[in-house]
Amino acid sequence: MTMYNNQLGQRSSGVGFRILIAGFILISGFVTYFCSTQVNPVTHETQHISITPQQEIQLGLQAAPEMAAQMGGELPGGDRREAEVRAMGQKLVSVLPENPYSFQFHLLADAGTVNAFALPGGQVFITEGLYDKLTTEGQLAGVLGHEIGHVIHRHAAEQMAHQDFYNAIVAAAGVAANDQRAAALANYVAQLRGLKFSRGDELQADEWGLQVMTAAGYDPHQMLQVMAVLQQLEASGTGPEMLSTHPLAQSRIDRINDYLQQHFPRGVPAGLTPGGPLPQGGGGFLRGG
Ligand SMILES: [Zn+2]
Repeated sequence: MTMYNNQLGQRSSGVGFRILIAGFILISGFVTYFCSTQVNPVTHETQHISITPQQEIQLGLQAAPEMAAQMGGELPGGDRREAEVRAMGQKLVSVLPENPYSFQFHLLADAGTVNAFALPGGQVFITEGLYDKLTTEGQLAGVLGHEIGHVIHRHAAEQMAHQDFYNAIVAAAGVAANDQRAAALANYVAQLRGLKFSRGDELQADEWGLQVMTAAGYDPHQMLQVMAVLQQLEASGTGPEMLSTHPLAQSRIDRINDYLQQHFPRGVPAGLTPGGPLPQGGGGFLRGG
């Protein structure tokens, strides 16, 4: 902008040029968004996504260390809870339908934050704060299954496509400031941090979680126990992070009850169990090994 102001003779052609560029960015934003539809390889829904599953995996791997560092870092290997999270994650992955993702499960040493989240491509995290509020394997299966649902449904990639589209509009509107779009792309990984899923995304992830935990042999009613934990947090006004990214527990509880009634009208089969008790923290003999 200043470049053109310094050169009076080019000012008018500069304005024309900028309008041209703005138009180009706006159109390419529209084209990119509306042309980049993909059919989800697992759910078969049509989605506006501009990156490949391989790129999702790459982005997730790139962002994982930073995300982990922000929440206390990973628990040391040898902690029985960390081993449990990894083992449960792999158990759930083993019952998933064929998919292009590469799942890894992490327990983060943040006892003060109650949260779980997933990066695109399959990096899944649960904080110590949430883990320690769970009591059964089935509850952990529900939490991890929910996060797996976000990955399979490609919710992050969808949000990023929306964000791209939005960035294109912003860039077109304010194109006088150069390279906004380039800067936006450079911030891709940073965006992942502030990603917010919609209420619909959350309910979809819950449903996926119920399916996965059931396939792995756990009673889906355990998901209601997880919701009871969240509801307690809501009542106490703590756990702002979980609450800002997840809809009110009661609306999720209602949907879970609908699901249970629909899929198990005569009660869940006897083979589905709550699972055993989870290993607890606080100095198990394997700790720190
Ligand atoms: Zn979620």
